[in-house]
Amino acid sequence: MSKTVSDINEKIKEGTVKVVRADEMTKIVQDLGPERAAQEVDVVTTGTFGAMCSSGVWMNFGHSEPPIKMTKVWLNDVEAYAGVAAVDAYLGATQPSKIQGIQYGGAHVIEDLLNGKPVVLRAVSYGTDCYPRKRIITQITLDDLNFALMSNPRNGYQRYNAAANSGEKILSTYMGKLLPRCGNVTFSGAGELSPLMNDPQYRTVGIGTRIFIGGAQGYIVGSGTQHNPQNRFATLMVQGDLKKMSPEFIRAATFTDYGCTLYVGIGVPIPVLNSEIAKNTGISDEEIFTDVLDYSIPSRNRPALKKASYAELKSGTIEINGRQVPTSPLSSFWMAKKIADLLRTLIEKGEFKLSSPVENLPLTATVKPLSLQSYPLPPSQPEPLSLPASSKLYRDRKRCIHCGLCLALCKKRVFSRDKNWKVHVESTACDRCGLCSDVCPVKAIFVPMNTAKNEKT
Ligand code: SF4
Ligand code: SF4
Repeated sequence: MSKTVSDINEKIKEGTVKVVRADEMTKIVQDLGPERAAQEVDVVTTGTFGAMCSSGVWMNFGHSEPPIKMTKVWLNDVEAYAGVAAVDAYLGATQPSKIQGIQYGGAHVIEDLLNGKPVVLRAVSYGTDCYPRKRIITQITLDDLNFALMSNPRNGYQRYNAAANSGEKILSTYMGKLLPRCGNVTFSGAGELSPLMNDPQYRTVGIGTRIFIGGAQGYIVGSGTQHNPQNRFATLMVQGDLKKMSPEFIRAATFTDYGCTLYVGIGVPIPVLNSEIAKNTGISDEEIFTDVLDYSIPSRNRPALKKASYAELKSGTIEINGRQVPTSPLSSFWMAKKIADLLRTLIEKGEFKLSSPVENLPLTATVKPLSLQSYPLPPSQPEPLSLPASSKLYRDRKRCIHCGLCLALCKKRVFSRDKNWKVHVESTACDRCGLCSDVCPVKAIFVPMNTAKNEKT
């Protein structure tokens, strides 16, 4: 028996769709078996609410009078990346404040914006003819932004390792405080509620899958950075409109002596298209295992102290070296369930339609370490092209993109284009004014140094 996403959307429209939460589906599959479960259930909702450092927001501030090409941008003294168009910037969640350090960072600015608080925008520039302004300082709110897209390069890890510390001193890590001599274990992920754990072959999730993100409807835009499906460490790249989100599902956090991060609520609906998908959504915490790594070893190859199931981790203690060690989650199961419940309600009320991905997440990916080799430093300036003084001009054919900017500027009609807009050069008339070289955006034109416009003027 099989269904399509369209069949399920039709049931959503009719109000007859059957939706259950992922942890409820575990019991249904155990009781009825995958075949019957696939007949009974149309959609399984998943949820996770964890610290997702790889998050941030693209913003467009709008143009000031006079306009500015922002080259450095700060929001409440937290720097946003401005190496894009004039008034766009990307605020990363983990960027610390210049003044308050890690106690306040990009995540906190995002939460402040969501709470309707005003934020101080400060920007500087070198000034250009078209963007003469060199500094700006003003106050903005989320409403003032033309565009605020939460765009998270790596969210929703399929599963993640747990952490302990066999050393002699307390460690402050992104996995929280780790007490010496394996005094505690922390772990992240939502186990059987985790979105990708319920579709481990990514049959229903991929580019274009509509999801719940931060209280709004958003999308999976592809696999996340460090996507490592071979080891069930798959990740998601996601986006959603910050203006439609709620501070209930987006929360700034600081791990003392480590840094700031953003808790993001994500829920992915899994359409139960057949018995195999039903079987996968029936996964239980007893079947999901992860390594408990020893963070006292300062290496990316930390040794595993043991393997533990999510059932063990969620029980409150696990045994390490014959001793019961307390465990605590970094993510909130309370919130994860709330998200999966909310997503169920939205689907049942016909306010959330399922979408089929245009491309599923890849089942293989390359994840390799950064190799630390020594390289000679590249020259800071490219080698100048040496042309004989008799040369008029040289156009690098491979570099030229045939934009045509040089066409109208050359008074000597050295440049021409054919009917396909391919640009041709006939350099005999060139008087070496240098204007074309100046204007060429990809620097494909070289006029011999001693004959360029400086000499002429
Ligand atoms: S301006 Fe440069 S890139 Fe554009 S057509 Fe002329 S030579 Fe080519
Ligand atoms: S150097 Fe001046 S004259 Fe020569 S091709 Fe360029 S624009 Fe034309």
